[in-house]
Amino acid sequence: MLRFAPSPTGDLHIGNLRVALFNYIVAKQKNKRFIVRIEDTDQARNVEGKDKEILEILKLFGIEYDDLIYQSKNLHFHQNLAFKLLEEGKAFVCFCSEEELEKEREKAKKERRPYRYSGKCENLTLKEASQRRGKFVIRVKKPATPIKFRDLIKGEQQFSPFEVDSFVILRSNGMPTYNFACAIDDMLSDIELIIRGEDHLSNTPKQIHIRNLLGYTKEVEYAHLPIILNEEGKKMSKRDKASSVKWLLEEGFLPQAIINYLILLGNQTPQEVFTLQEAIEWFDIGKLSKTSAKFDLAKLRFLNRKHLEKLDPKLLAQKIGVKEELGELVKLYLEEASTLKELKEKIRKVLEEKREFGEFKREAQELKEIIAQLELPTEFEEFKKEVMKRSSLKGKRFFKPLRLILSGADKGPEISLLYRHLRPEIKELIKL
Ligand code: GLU
Repeated sequence: MLRFAPSPTGDLHIGNLRVALFNYIVAKQKNKRFIVRIEDTDQARNVEGKDKEILEILKLFGIEYDDLIYQSKNLHFHQNLAFKLLEEGKAFVCFCSEEELEKEREKAKKERRPYRYSGKCENLTLKEASQRRGKFVIRVKKPATPIKFRDLIKGEQQFSPFEVDSFVILRSNGMPTYNFACAIDDMLSDIELIIRGEDHLSNTPKQIHIRNLLGYTKEVEYAHLPIILNEEGKKMSKRDKASSVKWLLEEGFLPQAIINYLILLGNQTPQEVFTLQEAIEWFDIGKLSKTSAKFDLAKLRFLNRKHLEKLDPKLLAQKIGVKEELGELVKLYLEEASTLKELKEKIRKVLEEKREFGEFKREAQELKEIIAQLELPTEFEEFKKEVMKRSSLKGKRFFKPLRLILSGADKGPEISLLYRHLRPEIKELIKL
């Protein structure tokens, strides 16, 4: 079983979409089940409705899952297992106050050493603890020996007991921490391979430690994906608009192009332009680059254009919000537009009332009147001849206003092609 475990705390980040995508692909390749687990136990950070939004995005991208779990439904397991570890002496009750811990963190910072829990409450017996009053948390005791695991992308990993630390598993409000809930849920769902972002690499030994303490012996495999950097080479954050999948969709990038891009990023693929189905045939998670990849909007735009070119013209017209018959006309504008939003803008100019004729106002009026009288021939050459015959205009004074009347712009696709695909609309358009 594989899983994607988003937190419903904000817009889905492209890094997370990439995690979902790779889990989905590998599950398909191995013929395993794939579940989505909404990690909603951090109530303070949850944002109403984000879970539904994430699920909708997955649907739009064709990332289908076999089951959906809400982490909060497992709360009784988290709490019971924390008390089990406590009773077995593998965890302890900690009364250290937030201020006390903050002071220690400050001190560590000043001394330029990583902060670790002091161990102050570690030897309190359950009896002693039960006699004390006040808020407490539950911490696990750190491991006695290093935790090792193999990562499919990063290779062998080892973390010392000091790095794992005696960390909190249950907060004073009775809610589990991320590491604890995650370790238990993965165990309960029988997850065998965890693909996630490398920002979780240092969480992995903690989660393995918890499962070891609970006596779980099944080995879980890991693949930690390098983070995605922005164009300045820094970690892509919420401030980078392109990190939000919602923003990319609103800008008019196609899901299939985003998928193509996310698979291509930091990877060597047999082709540059491909579909998700094709990628399932050859994708190899172990071959991903170990180093972070830079997000390149220009590349995504290029791929988007390629996928727009592949779209059935009728479907493309639908996406742009114009009549199906105009699909071929829309395609002409792929020469100068790379997203649905840009295409819409171009096509809007073609279909709206044209007012900007500049120095060719008189000429435009003359041509409009001629065209209104004409039976429009199929071919542009013939059309041109007919209009020329009836008008006094030549050269630039003929072609410039003609293009403006037809397309609303002084540059653009070849005029004969424009004419061919726009012909059924022309009579209506010149009336505007
Ligand atoms: N909720 C965590 C996140 O969104 C899940 C990490 C994991 O896959 O374990 O980053």
